[in-house]
Amino acid sequence: MDVWITTCRKKSKCAYCEQDIIKESHMVVGKYWRKINPAGESVAIRWTLKRRWHIECWVENGKIQADKVSAQRSDTRGRPRLVLSDNDRLMRNRLMVRRAVVVYRIRKVQEANPYDIDALVKLGSKLYDIKEKIIDYGGVPKSW
Ligand SMILES: [Zn+2]
Repeated sequence: MDVWITTCRKKSKCAYCEQDIIKESHMVVGKYWRKINPAGESVAIRWTLKRRWHIECWVENGKIQADKVSAQRSDTRGRPRLVLSDNDRLMRNRLMVRRAVVVYRIRKVQEANPYDIDALVKLGSKLYDIKEKIIDYGGVPKSW
């Protein structure tokens, strides 16, 4: 959106308070090139769209929007939580633990005898099984 301040040449309505903007007073004009569609994506619009605000209303609205954004930011900090039923979450956690045990055993085997290929293959296939199973419980974690 392009934004500028200009003098009101003909009486307009403020997009924020919906009151008239008096002729010859200052106002903020915003020209939109894109809009947010229902899916939340920013898409180009065919024609530009202009909005007008009282200077005070623009500032007021800007503060409200800024507060909203910072409130959202603190809500969404960190990894988004998976939406899982209690049972699915329990199953997922069990698979995470089981994998951690297998990873630990692989490390132990490698330390004790790096040539124990049979043991490593066996443990490796367990890792693969766990990976296959966790797909049904929220998907494979990125770090796997
Ligand atoms: Zn206004």
